[in-house]
Amino acid sequence: MARRILTFFILLVLTFGLATYLILGQAIDELRVDHSRRQAQLHRVISGELSNTYLLLDSLIRERAGLYRQYHTAALEALGKDAATLDELKAGLSQQAGFEVDLRLISEELLVEGSTFGPDLGLDFKAPAFADVRRILALAEERGQVFLSAPSRNPATDQFQLTTYSTLLGGGYLGVVFTDPQVNHYFESLIDMAKLHPDVEVALFLDSGGKRLVRLDQASAVGGAVRLVVDRHLSQRQEVDYRRFRQAARAGGLTRIDDEAPGGQPLTHIYTRLLGLTLDSGLPLNFLGKITFDSRRSAAFESHFVRFYATLLGLAILFMAALIVLVRYRLVMPLQSIVGAIRNRLPVDSGRWQQMPELHFLAETYNQALDYNEARMKKLSELSVTDPLTGLLNRRYLEQVFANELARAARGGERVGFAMIDVDFFKAYNDLYGHRGGDRALVRVAEILSQQFRRAGDFVFRIGGEEFAVLITDPGQTPLVGQVEQFRLVLENAAIAHHGSRIADVVTASIGLKVIQPGELITPEEVIEAADQALYQAKHAGRNRVRVVDDSA
Ligand code: GH3
Ligand code: MG
Ligand code: MG
Repeated sequence: MARRILTFFILLVLTFGLATYLILGQAIDELRVDHSRRQAQLHRVISGELSNTYLLLDSLIRERAGLYRQYHTAALEALGKDAATLDELKAGLSQQAGFEVDLRLISEELLVEGSTFGPDLGLDFKAPAFADVRRILALAEERGQVFLSAPSRNPATDQFQLTTYSTLLGGGYLGVVFTDPQVNHYFESLIDMAKLHPDVEVALFLDSGGKRLVRLDQASAVGGAVRLVVDRHLSQRQEVDYRRFRQAARAGGLTRIDDEAPGGQPLTHIYTRLLGLTLDSGLPLNFLGKITFDSRRSAAFESHFVRFYATLLGLAILFMAALIVLVRYRLVMPLQSIVGAIRNRLPVDSGRWQQMPELHFLAETYNQALDYNEARMKKLSELSVTDPLTGLLNRRYLEQVFANELARAARGGERVGFAMIDVDFFKAYNDLYGHRGGDRALVRVAEILSQQFRRAGDFVFRIGGEEFAVLITDPGQTPLVGQVEQFRLVLENAAIAHHGSRIADVVTASIGLKVIQPGELITPEEVIEAADQALYQAKHAGRNRVRVVDDSA
């Protein structure tokens, strides 16, 4: 039982250890595979996520562009009729659209002369940063249409905006700025996507051609145009990145560039051109992603991973060990002690397992069974009429049959003989051949007795350790004393070696016989007493002989 439990646990630990080893090994192997593979995978995932969101944004802007142009045309008409002030127009358009719509009047000198933004009055679109606005204004002038510009971000509200531009009848230009919450939602989603991967830095840039580049999450707008970061605003390092970035964007797909981070750690950048948004001819807008893999952060992530599994393994081993100890002390050892007690047929100390109900119950049940068994054995031995060693009748039975036999003698039927037989120098036999040897000799004597006194009406008893008795009748053929004498001879001739005997070197017996005459009135006690006396005489006369008390003699 205990061994089986132990084997089971050893197997369990081995299986668990192997599984953990394989999982851990696999985890480490996975970490060891070329970083580039993992990076390429991540890149695919990130690009995919961003592209999907971008597509939603793109289709939304295309869908909204017509509406924006309608509002723009309505504003142009109202201004042409002098029907409303800029602020009234803003209020009307905003109410119609359901979101913030701002207006901006730009002079032919490219100065902002009227604005619902308020603070951008006097803003100068001749500044180098507004090259794309100027291009759009020129296009609007040339073609007499309403143009939609690239998205920008309002630094005051952090909201993304789309702006439509057209010429004004009296000269100058009108800009209508839409702060559309749906458009904002998708821009924010794009920015959130970029932040999803903890060990990878994803930067999204808006690039509307030329030497202009702005990070999406930092993009800000002044006067409706993206405040594009121009060459002189880039640090030397950024400029290098920027050039590579544009190079990569032109190449399309995925370009990886390895260089060094400020701390001397190698950095891997993957540049990708996600998608191009062409809002109006002449103003292409590219979304460009720079995915940075920081090898230091990757290494930290890796060691974190390994440590996690190592800790898990350690804990598992500890847990198994605790389990084994627990099972051993709480189950195996108590069971062993119970089994030991059961083997020796001893009562179990059930009090020791008060806290373990199952074991306590087992011990109690076993104790009860033991008590019951003992009581039964006692009862059985009380009922038994035979001697367990020799199978002869026992002393208790002698007392039972005595009355019948004496009554028979008293009725005057036959003579009855009662002989007590005592093995000579039996103590010495035991001393010489051991107690078990002594038992075997007693069994032999009993066998010879049974063979000699086998007639119906003969009873052979073992009445003490090496003392036997026979109750025999005399049907007339062989005198009682002759029968007894014959037994003595047969025993002697059986030659059971007994070198401790002082009168022979074989087992012999002394016999005292009491013959009860027909009609003789005598009690069992008197018969035994008489036979005992005769036996005493036989011993004293030198042993290995028969002495008879025969009242007829
Ligand atoms: P004696 O000739 O005077 O009868 O000498 P003894 O040694 O036979 O008599 P004693 O009564 O001194 O010793 C009897 C011995 O019988 C003592 C004991 O060792 C042995 N004995 C009693 N019962 C058994 C038994 O069931 N088995 C065995 N092997 N020996 C027994
Ligand atoms: Mg004796
Ligand atoms: Mg004896």
